Amino acid sequence: MSIMRFFGLDCAEAASACHKAEYNEAGLVEKLRLKLHLFLCTPCKDYNQKNHKLSHLIKKANLHSCSEEEKEAYRQRINEQRSETSR
Ligand SMILES: [Zn+2]
Repeated sequence: MSIMRFFGLDCAEAASACHKAEYNEAGLVEKLRLKLHLFLCTPCKDYNQKNHKLSHLIKKANLHSCSEEEKEAYRQRINEQRSETSR
């Protein structure tokens, strides 16, 4: 048993806990084990920071999906442009 496994999570479990924590789906014990793992494991610490930064940027971008009407309008526009270029 590695020291990481003894004290907390292995790296694969830490990655899973990292995703859960990002979406507020991790429990208190899992968060504490993740914190301990991140204290001991530099690659996972870097991964966690990048994952958090990506989540922040996605929230900041305020992305939304298109409605069916918008999708249909885009399809029609693309088809019109295709027919114009094929002439
Ligand atoms: Zn790790």
